[in-house]
Amino acid sequence: MKRLGFLMFLLVFLLAFPKAGDAASASAKIFLDGQQLNLSSGVQVANVDNNIMIPIRVVSENLGFKVDWEKASQSVTVQNSITTVKMVVGSKTAHIDGSQVSMNITPVLSGQTTLVPLRFVSSQMGMDVKWDNQNKAVYLSSSGSMTDPWIDGNGTPNDPDTEVPSTPTEPVNPSLPGTPGSLASIDGISFSENRLMIATSGNVKPNVFKLSSPERIVVDLPNTAFSEVFGYEHTLNTKNSGELSVTGYPDVSLIRYALFSDSPSTVRVVINLNNAMDYTVTTENDGLVFINLNPPEAVPTPPVGSNGKKIVVLDAGHGGSDPGSNSVTGKKEKAFNLALAQKVEKLLKNEKNIDVIMTRSDDSTLGLKDRSKIANNLNADIFVSMHGNNSTAGSPTGTETLYTRAESSKLAQTIHKHLVKATGLKDRGVKTQNLSVTRETKMPAVLLEVGFLNNKNDESQMFSEDFQNRVAEGIVSGIKEYLNVQ
Ligand SMILES: [Zn+2]
Repeated sequence: MKRLGFLMFLLVFLLAFPKAGDAASASAKIFLDGQQLNLSSGVQVANVDNNIMIPIRVVSENLGFKVDWEKASQSVTVQNSITTVKMVVGSKTAHIDGSQVSMNITPVLSGQTTLVPLRFVSSQMGMDVKWDNQNKAVYLSSSGSMTDPWIDGNGTPNDPDTEVPSTPTEPVNPSLPGTPGSLASIDGISFSENRLMIATSGNVKPNVFKLSSPERIVVDLPNTAFSEVFGYEHTLNTKNSGELSVTGYPDVSLIRYALFSDSPSTVRVVINLNNAMDYTVTTENDGLVFINLNPPEAVPTPPVGSNGKKIVVLDAGHGGSDPGSNSVTGKKEKAFNLALAQKVEKLLKNEKNIDVIMTRSDDSTLGLKDRSKIANNLNADIFVSMHGNNSTAGSPTGTETLYTRAESSKLAQTIHKHLVKATGLKDRGVKTQNLSVTRETKMPAVLLEVGFLNNKNDESQMFSEDFQNRVAEGIVSGIKEYLNVQ
C-alpha cells in the first residue's frame, strides 16, 4: 500500500517542476530508495504560481504522515513523531513545532479537499528528492536530513550525478558535508532515577529541545554515530534505530534512538513523555550526557568525587529484561542484586568521604559495557558488582568473590574477608574469572557471588532482610578498609 502511495506522490512530484516538464512524461524513471517504480495515476494536483499543491489526503495516505483537518479553523496539522507542521487555509504563516515560519503560498480549499504546498510540506517533514536531469530520473528518499527514522523508510541513492532540481520559489535545504573523521560515538543509553543517560566517546555537544502533541524531549547528538559497542548492547534494526522500554516512571512512556541523519551524522534520542516535563542537561567529563527529568532542587549539586571523596560504583547485576538466574523458589536474581546494592548504597551514603553511584537503581535494563563505562567515565576508585550464584552441577553452597585484572586482587581479598564473615556461608574463596564488568573497568573491580540461588538454604537467607543488611554491612566494611576511609 505504501509503495502505491509513493507512486502517486511521485506523479505529483513530477508535475512539481516545470523545468523538468519533459521528464514528467511517462518515460521518466522513478526510483524509490534505489528501486525503479512503475508509474500510476489518480491524484489531482494543482499548480499555483509554480507551487505544486497536493491534497492533504496524499500527505496522509501516500507520504505516511498523520494529518488532521479542523474544519472550524480551517487548519491542517501534518505530523510525524518528530515534527508538527500547522497550516491554515489562506494564511502564509505556518507553525513548525510551535515556531512561526512563513510560506510563499497559502493552503487553499479546492472542491472537497484542501491543497497544501508539496515542497514546503515534504521538506519540513524530511523528504529528500533528487532529480537527475541527464537520465531524466527522480530519486525519492525518505532519509533526508530531517527524516523521522521511525516512520519513513531508509536509503539515499548514492548517485554522485544527482542534483536537486531548483524551483523558483522555495530554497532547497543545504545539507552539510559529513565529517567522518571526527565522529564521536554513542556507546550506550539507559534510563534510571528519572534521567536519561547517554554514554559517549569523544566530544559531544547535545542539542536538546521539546516537542509537543505528543510531548517529547528530543536529544540530538551532532557528529555522532552508534559505536559497535552500542549495537552489541542494544537493539539496532536495519534502519539503525531501536527502542528502550521504560517501566516504573510515570512521566516516560518510551525512549527511542536512531541514526537520525548521516549528513552530518547525527544520533537522535527521543523521550516520549506522558505529560509535559522540564528537564536539565548535564554533560560530565568524558562524555556522559544526562537528561534529568527530576525537578532541579532534587538534583544533588556537588560534583561526584569532589573534595577528595572516593568514588564507589555499585553494580546490581542484571535487571530489566535480563533477570539473571532463577532461584530455587522462582525468585529472580536481579531482584536480590538490586535489594542488596540498595542497602550497600544506603550505608555508603552516610560516609562523608565516599560518593556512591549506582549503575542501576531500579529494574532497568543495562548492558554490561554500560556498567563499566559508567565507572570509567567517573574515574571511580572501585567498582563492586553484586550477584547471586547458580550452579548447573548440583546445588552447592557458599560465597565467592571474582575479579579479572591483577590490580583488583587486593580489593577482592579485602571485601571477600568481610563478605564471608557476613554471609556465614561456606568460603569458596577469591577467584579470577574473565568477566566483562571486571575486565572492562579501569579501576579495581570485583564481582561478588554472595550465595547460591539454587541452593535452598543459601536462597532462603539471601532473600531475607536480616541477611541482606548483614551482608551490606560486610561489603561496606570491606570497601572502607580497602579505601582506608574512616
Ligand atoms: Zn548474575
